[in-house]
Amino acid sequence: MINNDLSIVVVDDMPLGREAVCVALANSGYRDVRTASSAGEALTLLAHRPADVVLADWVMPEMDGLELTNHIRQQDEAGNHYTSVILFTAKEGVENLVLAFERGVDDYLTKPVNERELAARVHAAGRIAALQNTLFETAQNLSAHNRRLEEMATTDPLTGLGNRRYMRTHLEALMLETATRGGAIYLAIADIDHFKTVNDSHGHAVGDEVLVAVANRLRRAVRPTDVVVRMGGEEFAVIMYCADANQSNPALFERILRAINQRPIKTAAGNLSVTASLGVCFYSGAELGPQSVEAILECADIKLYQAKEGGRNQVVF
Ligand code: GH3
Ligand code: MG
Ligand code: MG
Repeated sequence: MINNDLSIVVVDDMPLGREAVCVALANSGYRDVRTASSAGEALTLLAHRPADVVLADWVMPEMDGLELTNHIRQQDEAGNHYTSVILFTAKEGVENLVLAFERGVDDYLTKPVNERELAARVHAAGRIAALQNTLFETAQNLSAHNRRLEEMATTDPLTGLGNRRYMRTHLEALMLETATRGGAIYLAIADIDHFKTVNDSHGHAVGDEVLVAVANRLRRAVRPTDVVVRMGGEEFAVIMYCADANQSNPALFERILRAINQRPIKTAAGNLSVTASLGVCFYSGAELGPQSVEAILECADIKLYQAKEGGRNQVVF
């Protein structure tokens, strides 16, 4: 029934008190028992290696058992750990015990200690600590798992860029910010020209290589704070925030176009030249109002269509 592996720290400024508790614990089969002659020393021991159960005298000079409990709870919080605290007390007053429980003490024992009662209480305290720590661990795993799910739901696996869902969330947040902070948003949609012929002539795998290369070129062509996403297929989007709503900058998008078409892309099928068409929507904060993400997307889409109609490999602004 006894969990011999329980890690225990005994704190008492009186050597005889410590000794009595240690003997009782040893008789009950507990092997991992460390001792401290002050609360400060106990905290140092715990910082070095956490314990499952701390048995501390209530009355000690400098720092008493209640204050020690406070510090343990602080350390626990930082370390995502739970330590069960049992205080030894000679003062049985109900008021004092209520105070102790309020301050985070788990249990108390009256002096002089009864060996069998001590073993039973330590066992129960160990179980509380184990339950709490399992709970912490589960919560931690769950949130790591959720983060991973979130990432998967918003990332395009081929290019590592954000996907359409991510674009939507980002654009919505940016629109809100623009409405309050001012400035403007650029949304550029870039669609690779005649991409179908790349797939048809060289296969899907080479098509994928081209998509990855274009994603990287786009990423490098813009500032780190700009967001590049893969909307799906061979369509990408660049979202930029621009602090000055009056300073629209078409040259920026010519540069993006050149970044895509300036050099052939090295693929398994040899060097392939690709071009893209860009449709750019510029929304200044003043016009934003109730405009939805849909409206901005539609505006960029229309411009993109015009760029295709106009002969491809160009920007329509
Ligand atoms: P346009 O200049 O009018 O844009 O012509 P296009 O050929 O680029 O456009 P279209 O929409 O006709 O063809 C897009 C092609 O992209 C068809 C589809 O098979 C291919 N595609 C979509 N997703 C992927 C992908 O993940 N990998 C590869 N290799 N091809 C993809
Ligand atoms: Mg295309
Ligand atoms: Mg397309």
